Amino acid sequence: MKILVINAGSSSIKYALFFKEKVLSRGLIDRIGIRGSTFSADGKTTGVNIPFHEAGFRLLFAYLQESKKIQSLKDIGAVGHRVVHGGATFKKSVSITPDVKAAIRKSFAIAPLHNPPNYEGILICEKILDSVPQVAVFDTAFHHNMPAKAYTYAIPRMLAAKYGIRKYGFHGTSHQYVCNEAARVLRTPISKLKLISCHLGNGCSVAAVKGGRSVDTSMGFTPLEGLVMGTRSGDIDPALVSFLIEHEHLTTKEMDALLNKQSGMLGISGISRDFRELLSSGKKEAALAVDVFVYRLAKYIGAYTAAMQGCDAIIFTAGIGENSAVVREKTCNYLKYAGLLLDRQKNQKNKPIISSPRSKMKVLVIPTQEDMMIMRETVAHL
Ligand code: ADP
Repeated sequence: MKILVINAGSSSIKYALFFKEKVLSRGLIDRIGIRGSTFSADGKTTGVNIPFHEAGFRLLFAYLQESKKIQSLKDIGAVGHRVVHGGATFKKSVSITPDVKAAIRKSFAIAPLHNPPNYEGILICEKILDSVPQVAVFDTAFHHNMPAKAYTYAIPRMLAAKYGIRKYGFHGTSHQYVCNEAARVLRTPISKLKLISCHLGNGCSVAAVKGGRSVDTSMGFTPLEGLVMGTRSGDIDPALVSFLIEHEHLTTKEMDALLNKQSGMLGISGISRDFRELLSSGKKEAALAVDVFVYRLAKYIGAYTAAMQGCDAIIFTAGIGENSAVVREKTCNYLKYAGLLLDRQKNQKNKPIISSPRSKMKVLVIPTQEDMMIMRETVAHL
């Protein structure tokens, strides 16, 4: 049975087609509804005109048939959809039913940027693929069993209950995947491991994973909390929000955009959100942005070591985590005091284990595969 994994964003559709654990095709339709749309599949990119998501899906299905990845749409046994925010309702992956769709629609209020395009992807696949089973896999689900002391915000409890305000956490499929891989690399059952997983991409989060369960994570009610990210501020003094709204005469929407789209690495440096550009820029503002990023990350690792009463291994993953030896080294330098020793050569080569054998904590580089995890969840669910 072939499984299609879909991650539909506001202007993109990422997909992967699996047969068992093998990727038959993987790609991205980008800049949907924007001039210069592209379709990248299996290493080839072409310019296309994709004014809206359904046109993107139709192009994808036509490509899969023309390239003989599938003979007909009937070859697709199930579709697994990434849905970013599961809110308080979804504690694990679910088959998509009318009730599930209604609950996802309800969650638009707490995830206005992410859940609407995820939902649209579900509707379009239902329309095109008819009765093929579809499963929703939530970024928040892996974190659902965090203890109350980790997920509770210190606000009036009546408001927290009224709106479902708590730390939810995101990147759950990625953290879960790399932690399982870490256990395999370390040849130790995951039930015996205390792991700190650092997912460092355009969005960044850290998770403390004890015995295979997430016990704390840096993103919160929304994916804005925690680490410094490409364009997101991460943690700030909450009083800044009312201060800037008042003094800059901002609407709440403008304030939201400021913290989500104009802050983070881009905001500090004034140069770029892209780590490669910042690391090669040579400008002092770029260097400061990198310093702030790494310092915040190291502080979270320290905090999660205390939260778990120890740490066996730190995992680096996603675009920055998998590729930037500099960021890994700068981060690990803060942890020398705790006996962490890096093997600089292995670090330069992005090897799976980059700590020295004498190090008290292992340090791992594990490429994330969120689509693989979504595929596994989809199969397990069926
Ligand atoms: P997304 O969260 O959108 O999936 P990625 O996981 O692809 O993003 O990560 C994107 C980030 O990874 C960008 O900031 C990019 O600059 C960074 N990155 C990719 N390759 C490198 C590299 N060789 N060195 C440093 N940063 C890198």
